Amino acid sequence: MQSLETVFVVGAGAMGHGIAQVFAEAGMKTFMRDLNEDLVQKGMAKIKKNLSKKVAKGRMSEERQNEVLAKLHPVTTLEEVAQADLVVEAATENVSIKESILKELDRLLKADAILATNTSSISITKLAAVTSRPEVFIGTHFFNPVQTMRIVEIIPGIQTSEDTLNAAKRIVDVIGKETVVAKDFPAFLLNRMLLPLLNEAFYCYMEGQGTAEDIDKGMKMAMGHPMGPLELSDFIGLDTLLSVFEVMYEGYGDPKYFPCPILTKLVEAGHYGVKSGKGFYDHTK
Ligand code: NAD
Repeated sequence: MQSLETVFVVGAGAMGHGIAQVFAEAGMKTFMRDLNEDLVQKGMAKIKKNLSKKVAKGRMSEERQNEVLAKLHPVTTLEEVAQADLVVEAATENVSIKESILKELDRLLKADAILATNTSSISITKLAAVTSRPEVFIGTHFFNPVQTMRIVEIIPGIQTSEDTLNAAKRIVDVIGKETVVAKDFPAFLLNRMLLPLLNEAFYCYMEGQGTAEDIDKGMKMAMGHPMGPLELSDFIGLDTLLSVFEVMYEGYGDPKYFPCPILTKLVEAGHYGVKSGKGFYDHTK
């Protein structure tokens, strides 16, 4: 990567819109792609809401807000990806969806672009292997909400070059965040520690050991967590969490990573948390 001027984000969901926002705020021309106009405009609406909040709190001028919005280009095709110095794939946590996106990107990207994925758990090495450029492929795992969380977990795959690792660290520095580097094993470093904690909270809830409210209140007030485990799970997306558990369970073959049945049940019901309106809590009111 010669310079970082143009970024292309694939996915405008919970993570994609936040990733697009931070790059636009850092001054990059930023494309954000989702499957249709409705989805991409939903992502844009969330960015506008985030920026308006900053303006209302006096942390951003209206002029600057307009400058940031002018850097953002919502798109529904991959046409513009040829301009990108960096692509961040932040589509649904599903191996076959990601592999098909990556194969398409591989055909369109310029030679020296960096290809990054925001996957929470899927092997970087495996995803890299579907491209013809595994040396420039890397995991850049942002945290939710992207615009406020100051850490990005960087995961080089087995084939990732040292230059790509260093470029990824510089990119994260440019957007004003810190990095931790993790080895490419299922769920990497931070989710490997977080998910067993969430799973235990799901069992406490399923077994009626405490109400959802008490589980969350207890963890916030006793442990100093900013969000309780059930509200955090609803915020992350229960479908995304279930996919991460499946990758961990399969990858380590260890029953400690088997997802609690209540999580599976909620996902089967289409109760994905905040994004679908219902999860452990009702978000429709
Ligand atoms: P999400 O369900 O909110 O959004 C995913 C988006 O990808 C959807 O809008 C979907 O329409 C879109 N999409 C699917 N196929 C596409 C394609 N071919 N082209 C473009 N867009 C496509 O999911 P999310 O929470 O934003 O997660 C995205 C990625 O980020 C996943 O890999 C997830 O594991 C990871 N992640 C999520 C969190 C979190 O807290 N939710 C945190 C860190 C990482």
